[in-house]
Amino acid sequence: VHSFGFRYRLHVKKLPGKPDLVFRQRKKVIFVHGCFWHQHASCREGRIPDSRREYWQSKLAKNVERDAAHIAQLAAAGWKTLVIWECGMRNLVELGQELTDFLSENRCDKRL
Ligand SMILES: [Zn+2]
Repeated sequence: VHSFGFRYRLHVKKLPGKPDLVFRQRKKVIFVHGCFWHQHASCREGRIPDSRREYWQSKLAKNVERDAAHIAQLAAAGWKTLVIWECGMRNLVELGQELTDFLSENRCDKRL
């Protein structure tokens, strides 16, 4: 992210969910989520294994619930959140564009 010219802080523990990147002046945060642990919808990496399916389903559902709660708490405090998925890290050009869009926008839309 630094290479795109944005200044940020890493892992600010005071904020809900300990976002991976925090842009204090812009009041924006970014989470980098693993597709499996955070259940990236319609992503191959987010598929639940066939063995011990129920165990994984409830465990991962809790992660997703927690993520949603953190994002809601952040929004309530005036922070905008962007979630970057692990699988999206493979395409750096697209990722750079997404970051730039997110950090330069002032509109109130939340993209997940
Ligand atoms: Zn994914």
